[in-house]
Amino acid sequence: MVEVKTEDGKTLGFGDGQFQVIAGPCSVESYEQVLGIARAVKSSGATLLRGGAFKPRTSPRSFQGLGVEGLKILSKVKHEVGIPVVSELMAIEDLPEFEDIDVIQIGARNMQNFRLLKEVGTQTKKPIILKRGLSATIKELVLAAEYVLDAGNPNVILCERGIRTFETEMRNSLDLGIVPVIHRLSALPIIVDPSHSTGKAWMVEAAAVSATAIGADGLIIEVHNDPKNAKCDGDQSQTPEMFDATMKKVMEAREMAMKWWRTM
Ligand code: PEP
Ligand code: MN
Repeated sequence: MVEVKTEDGKTLGFGDGQFQVIAGPCSVESYEQVLGIARAVKSSGATLLRGGAFKPRTSPRSFQGLGVEGLKILSKVKHEVGIPVVSELMAIEDLPEFEDIDVIQIGARNMQNFRLLKEVGTQTKKPIILKRGLSATIKELVLAAEYVLDAGNPNVILCERGIRTFETEMRNSLDLGIVPVIHRLSALPIIVDPSHSTGKAWMVEAAAVSATAIGADGLIIEVHNDPKNAKCDGDQSQTPEMFDATMKKVMEAREMAMKWWRTM
């Protein structure tokens, strides 16, 4: 199990019967935006807030994130709302700026950035969400996680975020089979990202519920107050209202999963 401590002394566990939902915008755009989303997703049952400050964008001309300013916004919202925060680290030089960030995400595009993996293993004990590479096999994901573990940080959470296949109807293909495979061959928790794996807000609920039912240890979902005008990933972002409805179904699916899969 991987644990995250909250400010009021509670422990949020991933794995071994514990399940968490991380929600928030793809990227931090402003204090007001993140504050509003954080309050909404927390009241719907999310236990952690996500928000990218350093964004790995395909085009160098797309919004690259607010950088350190974005991390400061996350930290302010974290204390204001009382919710731990998750953000992506792209370069080890930025690690000192992540002091108040509770969980560090290593994105799909950096899954095999072995120097970065070794450094987050050596320099921090914070939980690391390691996202599956765009065309990485399950074995490659597990071996990438071992770079972090072997360097001294045992707190790795694997994340399925869809893989690139011949299919074009969705942004990626969601490989839910990874969940039972990881439960069988690894002790690490595995969460699912129904947003990047589908690329479409209308599909996120079905993917989130299915991922929960198959036994995922958590979800990471993109939520935006105004998806049409989002600076990044608007097409796949749920509104807070959609997220609230999804959470109700996810909690039902979680109850069933707990009954069905005794080995989770
Ligand atoms: C993200 O979480 O916004 C992100 C960039 O994810 P991925 O690395 O899975 O594409
Ligand atoms: Mn995104």
